[in-house]
Amino acid sequence: MFKVNDIRQDFPILNRQVNGKPLVYFDNAATSQTPQQVIDVIVDYYSKYNANIHRGVHTLSQEATDLYEQARLKIQKHFNAKHPHEIILTSGTTDGINLVANGFSSLLKKGDEVIVSALEHHSNIVPWQMLCERTGAVLKVIPMNEAGELEMNQYDKLLSKNTKLVFVNHISNALGTINPIEYIIEKAHSVGAAVLIDGAQACPHVKPDVQKLDVDFYVASAHKMCGPTGVGMLYGKEAWLNKLPPYQGGGEMIAEVTFEKTTYADLPHKFEAGTPNICGGIAFGAAIDYMNQIGFDAIENYEHELLEYATEKLLEIEGLKIYGTAKNKTSVVSFNLEGIHPYDVGTILDKLGIAVRTGHHCAQPIMDFYKIPGTVRASFAFYNAKAEIDALVEGVKKAKMMLA
Ligand code: PLP
Repeated sequence: MFKVNDIRQDFPILNRQVNGKPLVYFDNAATSQTPQQVIDVIVDYYSKYNANIHRGVHTLSQEATDLYEQARLKIQKHFNAKHPHEIILTSGTTDGINLVANGFSSLLKKGDEVIVSALEHHSNIVPWQMLCERTGAVLKVIPMNEAGELEMNQYDKLLSKNTKLVFVNHISNALGTINPIEYIIEKAHSVGAAVLIDGAQACPHVKPDVQKLDVDFYVASAHKMCGPTGVGMLYGKEAWLNKLPPYQGGGEMIAEVTFEKTTYADLPHKFEAGTPNICGGIAFGAAIDYMNQIGFDAIENYEHELLEYATEKLLEIEGLKIYGTAKNKTSVVSFNLEGIHPYDVGTILDKLGIAVRTGHHCAQPIMDFYKIPGTVRASFAFYNAKAEIDALVEGVKKAKMMLA
């Protein structure tokens, strides 16, 4: 029995009212909420340990350094990376992707091919387009079908000895589709290509094992998994990270600097120029502890119940269409009411205290595929209750009555 009411007590924001109504927070795919256990760590850091890390001999600096490096170890353990230095602390998923795309500028040449999927967030499209512009490499796209699934037979056909990189999200933010990343990785490796998996949407729901996946790069953001904004992680296999040049120059990432020549620090510092988000990194570790204490199997099962319940109840509304009906899907429901703009539905839901996302969800190619301007997206987390889904369904019915 999943004790959602007890869990909800951990999230102070869930007690607030919006427009005079209890907040129903269904924008979890954009940013998750933060439990008191993580908020306490942030307050604790600024109350007791605030100092710059890695270069201070004084006690505060050493304590902050220890806490920051302990967080890296927690992240390493969570993702089952072989070494702590394979975990690069970034400002988020976008930063991690740009770091890798920038690094590949010196490794790709004209005529090389890189493969992306039709289901990507703009973060996992634009940096690769920029990389292709810089290098003359060609961008190829794995198409999707009406259900919002990737067409794997087309992927097989795209792969060739020219393929150097494949980048796909683990779970689609716009539709919730869980992509067959094991297959994608294995096939890419069979032609010698490296794979980057964008795990921004997967990490709030599942616990990826990067060694078992044999993935080359995996990226995630803390703010989607109960942590703060402005921090995330890039996992890279040691050999790849050694091969890639540094992303940014500055303090922390050097071994020695002279005006004639600079040598770079070892991993992970080579990719961590400047003062990092120290408190954010420590709180990221605390968020991982919190989620593991709830347990990812329990989270996955409960969220699946929420997804099934919401899908069934929403489909009872005449004229409501759900986009993304993949069999393998996480707790995201993207929908529209016939003849009504998603923005208008979102605005009425907000008046009722219900937070959903409306628009293209930074995935315009998906909206183009369905020939729609956008959707209303309700995305659920393990601290949502079934009663909140009932409130959403009533809210959508009300919006339909007012707008149709
Ligand atoms: N990739 C996916 C699939 C996402 O859903 C998001 C954010 O919504 C991102 C990348 C970008 O994450 P961030 O803004 O934390 O860098």
